[in-house]
Amino acid sequence: MFAEVAIKVPLFRTFDYRIADNCTVQVGCRVTVPFGNRKLVAIVMAIKSTSEVPANKLKSLTEVLDDSPILSTIHLKFLRFCAQYYAHPIGETLFTALPAALRDGAHPDKTTIANYVLSEAGKLQPKLRAKKQMALLAQLGKSGESSLTELKALGFSKQQINALLDKQLITEQIKHDTQWQNQAITIANKPRLNEEQATACSAINQQHNYRCFLLEGITGSGKTEVYLQSLERIVQSGKQALILVPEIGLTPQTVNRFRRRFANLAIDLWHSNLTDNERLHTWRRAEQGSCALVIGTRSSVFLPFKSLGMIIVDEEHDGSFKQQEGLRYHARDLAAYRCASINIPLILGTATPALETLNKAITGKYQLLTLSQRAQTTTDNQFLLVDMKGQKEQAGLAPTTLQHIAATLKRTKQVMVFLNRRGYAPTLLCHECGWLSQCKHCSASTTYHKAMGRLVCHHCSEQSFVPPQCPDCGSTQIMPTGIGTEQLEGFLTECFAETPISRIDRDTTRRKGALEDALDEINQGGARILIGTQMLAKGHHFADVSLVVILDVDSGLYSSDFRATEHMAQLITQVAGRAGRSGEAGKVLLQTHFPEHPLLQDLVNNGYQDFARFALKEREEALLPPYSHLAILRAQATNAKQVFDFLSDLVPATPYCGIQLLGPIPAPMERLAGKYRYQLHIQASERMILHNYIRQLMQYVSEHKLANRVRWSIDIDPMDT
Ligand code: ADP
Ligand code: ZN
Ligand code: ZN
Repeated sequence: MFAEVAIKVPLFRTFDYRIADNCTVQVGCRVTVPFGNRKLVAIVMAIKSTSEVPANKLKSLTEVLDDSPILSTIHLKFLRFCAQYYAHPIGETLFTALPAALRDGAHPDKTTIANYVLSEAGKLQPKLRAKKQMALLAQLGKSGESSLTELKALGFSKQQINALLDKQLITEQIKHDTQWQNQAITIANKPRLNEEQATACSAINQQHNYRCFLLEGITGSGKTEVYLQSLERIVQSGKQALILVPEIGLTPQTVNRFRRRFANLAIDLWHSNLTDNERLHTWRRAEQGSCALVIGTRSSVFLPFKSLGMIIVDEEHDGSFKQQEGLRYHARDLAAYRCASINIPLILGTATPALETLNKAITGKYQLLTLSQRAQTTTDNQFLLVDMKGQKEQAGLAPTTLQHIAATLKRTKQVMVFLNRRGYAPTLLCHECGWLSQCKHCSASTTYHKAMGRLVCHHCSEQSFVPPQCPDCGSTQIMPTGIGTEQLEGFLTECFAETPISRIDRDTTRRKGALEDALDEINQGGARILIGTQMLAKGHHFADVSLVVILDVDSGLYSSDFRATEHMAQLITQVAGRAGRSGEAGKVLLQTHFPEHPLLQDLVNNGYQDFARFALKEREEALLPPYSHLAILRAQATNAKQVFDFLSDLVPATPYCGIQLLGPIPAPMERLAGKYRYQLHIQASERMILHNYIRQLMQYVSEHKLANRVRWSIDIDPMDT
């Protein structure tokens, strides 16, 4: 007998090995095989009685690592689809989907992981002098149970945990692997649904087969409540569910809400902060059916659930669902495939649907469910466009903007100022000769960080000292140009000396737990002005914000990326959702040089729904996705000519009916970390044509004489164009 196996090598094929007579092995098991002069872990894809490889060339399996399959046939089929769809080598696809511990051949059941819970004494709310220990008790009071990793992510240390263990205020609890499927499930105090929520829930509850629901509802309209109540039926019937969330959305607030609602269900988390051991543990629990729910970031879409009953994708438009390297998959799209193939419902929830998703809802492929009102408040936000033409701005703020900020602070409300550029200034400029501080390795300017006294490239992270003089002309007149969050904070601190200000960006939140601390302080009303980058835009709830200011709207209006306006509109709508929960109507102030821009006008006057439908028409006229299908072949190398030649060669060599090729064109960042980057856009009106062409192209590319000299990759349905 022969085993067809997948090995983690960048080749679009599987390999055959002989199975020794005394050896038993099943499809989906890991084995080790001799490969060249190495011994590698491989996964058995099929067992067959013949092989096309001549008998004298066939080697035997070295060792069988699993008694029973670690990947079921259904899961293998899913991963095979994944490799085909994204034109990625099958072995690399399988190994990307496996948790790291299983990739190196570890035994799947070697781990147990304890969660921390309050002891009886701990529940009595004892008073302790150590503040952090008190905070830890409070956290466990809220979450019910938390793992070491979760607590560490919140800024707690092992010492603090040990101190509480010593005082017997908390205990370790091995996660209950009880059969929750056979127990009554307690559902803690839930609110009565409003009419729209009830309509949505009943539509979802009636659906036992595959159906994709687009739950379109503004922030605070009660989408999470709809998820929670739709999940009841699923878990009560003993099925598991997966809730996919963007990285930033995996805040304790959301998780606590699920844990409080389903108090006696095992709910596991999956995100980038987990240790390999914890991932393995969750993987196995999903597979054995011992956890009911998993709340996870994009790669949780690969978890091998024993009996999956529903997938929910929260903030489905979010860019973090797309993996940007290696296997370039989109977790939302894979979730849709998975649900369809095992015939279960899928919910995509968002205030700002991706245009691809919205198009499917409009054409009836997906069922649209709308929540149009906020669940708790009824105030509507008001948009204000501030025309920046001819304005005397200070630190990027127009006088009108400053007046609005002052007035809001006077009413003791919070203000949020949003600028998607960290650092002090995006570049240094020589006033005499026009020299700009540039990264040596990238086609980008270096950002000036005043507090650090350094120039930093935000693309390759290279740092350098600030030159005392212009390197070109020797002038000392070099000055920061443009505005970053650090400068904005400095300026607002001067303007509003008495006002506590909090800045949230990658620079201020490097320390673990720093983000949570800052958010806590904001929520307790400490900071009155919040300055932030995109990090602040998503997933956080602030009670007291009544003015949101967005400074760099224009960068989204005119960009070479055809998705830029869509992303800008999503961002504005998301950020606007942060305002107006404080009892008074929120104001959203947008600074722009193009107040008459039709898409912007549509967005502020008629809202995202209208904007999106208008933007879809533009896409249709330009035959851009979702009205066509796109892939990008990217290539990079230190030698620009090699990259260019490599891509240029492919264009005449692979003609194909129904395919438009554009390029080679320089990537948006032509040079990055010393490498030159070019790309080829591949477009087709039919998905089948695109995929058939790509298959042929991959064959041709991998045999090309320059294929080993340049680094190349294919990106199907790319997000960055
Ligand atoms: P979204 O997920 O759309 O942002 P949430 O589900 O978080 O909205 O709801 C916003 C707030 O309103 C939450 O505090 C939630 O508890 C509350 N809420 C949601 N639905 C209801 C309801 N039917 N009755 C009362 N409160 C509700
Ligand atoms: Zn100069
Ligand atoms: Zn750089």
